[in-house]
Amino acid sequence: MNTQIIKVDPEHPDIEKIRIAAEILKKGGLVAFPTETVYGLGGDAEDAGASKAIYAAKGRPSDNPLIVHICDYSQLEKISKDLPPEAKKLSDAFWPGPMTLIVNKNGVIPHETTGGLDTVAVRFPSHPVANALIRESGCMIAAPSANTSGRPSPTKAEHVIHDLNGKIDAIIDGGPVQIGLESTIVDLTEEVPTILRPGYINKQMLEKVVGEVKVDPGILGTENVHVRPKAPGMRYKHYAPKGDLKIVSGDQDKVIAEINRLAEEGENSGKKVGIIATEETKDFYHIGKVISIGDRTDEYEIAHNLFDVLRKMDEYGAELIYSEEFSTPKIGNAIMNRLLKAAAHQVIEV
Ligand code: AMP
Ligand code: MG
Repeated sequence: MNTQIIKVDPEHPDIEKIRIAAEILKKGGLVAFPTETVYGLGGDAEDAGASKAIYAAKGRPSDNPLIVHICDYSQLEKISKDLPPEAKKLSDAFWPGPMTLIVNKNGVIPHETTGGLDTVAVRFPSHPVANALIRESGCMIAAPSANTSGRPSPTKAEHVIHDLNGKIDAIIDGGPVQIGLESTIVDLTEEVPTILRPGYINKQMLEKVVGEVKVDPGILGTENVHVRPKAPGMRYKHYAPKGDLKIVSGDQDKVIAEINRLAEEGENSGKKVGIIATEETKDFYHIGKVISIGDRTDEYEIAHNLFDVLRKMDEYGAELIYSEEFSTPKIGNAIMNRLLKAAAHQVIEV
């Protein structure tokens, strides 16, 4: 298949170009497009065939449901039933934006889109390109991240081209995305709203709007790896670079010393080594490929660069990758949740 690349201005997309992509969606085709979180791989959410094609293109297990992207609150009402009052409160506060709500579904969205579940994940993105595409196509767009299943999520059109060129109808290139981490997923089908995937909208922000919010114990980190996460996608190996990634945790001086030791050991055994450092620490490393993920104190920069850095390690061919740990009080566990999954929870404490 020839994949059409459609370049647009991310802030003011040319509506004629958006229409080309919208026509593809209306005919059941697949289009990758930028959102404020990561690039999505979109198809008409009401078309079971389009959803099946999304799973095939990504190599995604068909029990891992897709998020339905909308451009108006009334579309949430159209596809759900028993909407709790929190849905309106949270959407008023955070939509359009990087938050996904899980609600009970009615019959409008087929089970192929929701991985066989009776609930549906819904998001109203803020990105002008995503918005224009949903509006122009007249479709609600089912869209998981536009990467090959298991790989780091795509934050640039180049990442999408690398994974999906030749497998989908079109890719809208709107440059790098803003946030770089997937949306916060909030389950509204339980008694208390529950975070199934951490993201830019954190627990405190949600609690200000709806009071008590829980975090799914399945996603909390190393000590909880045996608890099964509720979001099917959080159970799979994910975000992984091709090399063996380990996180080194502890006081900064000790972390640097240990990473240097491990890097030397790796290089001596003939392996290609990659190191994920920060602006503050990058000059302390002299072995292998050292990539700075950003300023240690700027969580948003780290979030923005994380997936790109993991992909750059693949480009370099790193076989052993050592990463510093990042303290992220604002985004909370959103960054470390991704990094821990990418490292299959391998953490070296020093
Ligand atoms: P992605 O779009 O690739 O970021 O993945 C969507 C995420 O949302 C995956 O982790 C899914 O398992 C999760 N998800 C989608 N729909 C549901 C649902 N109805 N219940 C729980 N998790 C869901
Ligand atoms: Mg994904």
